[in-house]
Amino acid sequence: MAAALAAKGAGAGKVAILERAGELGGILNQCIHNGFGLHWFKEELTGPEYATRFVQQVQRSGIDTYLNTMVLELTPQPRITAVSSDYGLVEFTARSVVFAAGCRERTRGAINIPGFRPAGVLTAGTAQRYINIEGFMPGREVVILGSGDIGLIMARRLTLEGAKVKAVIEILPYAAGLARNVAQCLEDFHIPLYLSSTVINIHGQERINGVTMAQVDPDRAVVSGTERFIPCDTLLLSVGLIPENELTAAGGVKLDPRTGGPTVDEYRHTSIPGVYACGNVLHVHDLVDYVSEEGEIAGTAAALGYGSHEGTEIVPGRGVRYVVPHRLSAAQPFNLYLRVVEPQERVRLFIGDKQVVKRNVKPSEMLRIGISAQEAAELRRLKRVEVRLEEAP
Ligand SMILES: Cc1cc2nc3c(=O)[nH]c(=O)nc-3n(C[C@H](O)[C@H](O)[C@H](O)COP(=O)(O)OP(=O)(O)OC[C@H]3O[C@@H](n4cnc5c(N)ncnc54)[C@H](O)[C@@H]3O)c2cc1C
Repeated sequence: MAAALAAKGAGAGKVAILERAGELGGILNQCIHNGFGLHWFKEELTGPEYATRFVQQVQRSGIDTYLNTMVLELTPQPRITAVSSDYGLVEFTARSVVFAAGCRERTRGAINIPGFRPAGVLTAGTAQRYINIEGFMPGREVVILGSGDIGLIMARRLTLEGAKVKAVIEILPYAAGLARNVAQCLEDFHIPLYLSSTVINIHGQERINGVTMAQVDPDRAVVSGTERFIPCDTLLLSVGLIPENELTAAGGVKLDPRTGGPTVDEYRHTSIPGVYACGNVLHVHDLVDYVSEEGEIAGTAAALGYGSHEGTEIVPGRGVRYVVPHRLSAAQPFNLYLRVVEPQERVRLFIGDKQVVKRNVKPSEMLRIGISAQEAAELRRLKRVEVRLEEAP
C-alpha cells in the first residue's frame, strides 16, 4: 500500500494492487498487539490500526484494488498473470511492477526434528492466525522452539489466553528476537528462555504429548546427558522466515542467497527492467515502519522509472550477514540496511572508508545507516564497496 500510494503521488496514471487475501494489510491484520508505527506515525499502534491508516488512504486515492486475486506468474515486459474469484484468469501489462509479497515461515520439514507427525505441531504465525482471527485456541501446555519475534509474541499471547507456556527454546546462545520483545513477552510473564538448546524429539502419535529438549555445544551438536522431557500438547515453531520469491525467481529475477530476496539498487530496482521489490519479500524486517519506508522508495521509483541493474556493487564483509541495497546506481542520499552475523559490543562499522561508530550490534536489530548525497557520490565512483565490522580500540 505504501508503494502504491507513493507511485500515485509521484504521478503514475494508473495504479493497481493485486492481493490474494480478502482484505488489504497482509500480516498486520493478525498482529493485534501494539508496537507498530513509532517511527512512521510517531504513535504506538496495533497491526490492524497501522494497516487501516494505509487502507483509508488507498480508498481515497483512486488506486484500483483487486482482492482475492492470486498472482501466478511474472514475465518480463513486465506482465503478470493472476487468478481471481471475481474475474477468473486475468493478465496485467504494466510499465512497472512492485513486488511486495511478504515472507513465509520455516516449517518442521525445514529443520528435521525426528518423531511422528502428531497434531499440535504448528508454526507460530499459524497459531497467531488461529487465535487472533479464527478464534481457536491451539493448545493449553505449550513449548515454543525459536526465540524470533513471532515466537516471543505468541508466548505472551498464549499466556494471556490462559495457556501455560512451559519453555521457549533457542539453539543460539542469544535470543533471536528484539530485546524489547524478550523483556515484554517473556520476562514480564516469567516464561523461561533456554539458550544453546533445541528440541531433539517430538513425542505422541495422534496428538503431541511432549518434547525432548537438550543443550547444544558451540557447533550445535547435542550435549549428551542434558536431555529432558517436557510434557506439552502443543509445539510452536518460530524458526525463521523465508522471503516469498518463487514467482520472482521463476520470472528470472536475480536473488541474493543471504537475504533470500532479489538483488536491488537503492531504488529497489531488481535485475529485471521495470520490476521492483520491497518489504519482507526483499529481506525480513523487524519493524513495519521500515517496510513502509521501503515501499515508498520502490513505488516512487516505479512511477518515475528510476533505477538500473548496474552500478557500484555493495557487498557484506567481515561480521556482516547481508546488506541492502546490493548496488548503487545514482548519487542520491539513501539508507543502507544491514544485519550483523553475531552480537558484538563496541564495534566500528565501515562502509568502504567511511566509519560509523556503533557501540553494540545484534543480528535481531536491523541497522539503518543514512548516506548523504556527497557520500553516495564518493561511493558511486568506486566499482565495489565492502561493508564490514572491526573491533573498536
Ligand atoms: C508476529 C509478528 C509480529 C510483528 N510485530 C511487529 C511489531 O511489534 N512492530 C513492527 O513494527 N513490526 C512488527 N512485525 C513486522 C511487520 O509487521 C512486517 O514486517 C510487515 O508487516 C511486512 O509487510 P509486507 O508488506 O512486506 O508483507 P506482508 O504483510 O506479509 O504482505 C504481503 C502480502 O502479499 C500477499 N501475497 C503474497 N503472495 C501473493 C500472490 N502470489 N498474489 C497476491 N498476493 C500475494 C499476501 O497475501 C500479503 O497480504 C511483526 C511481524 C509478525 C509476523
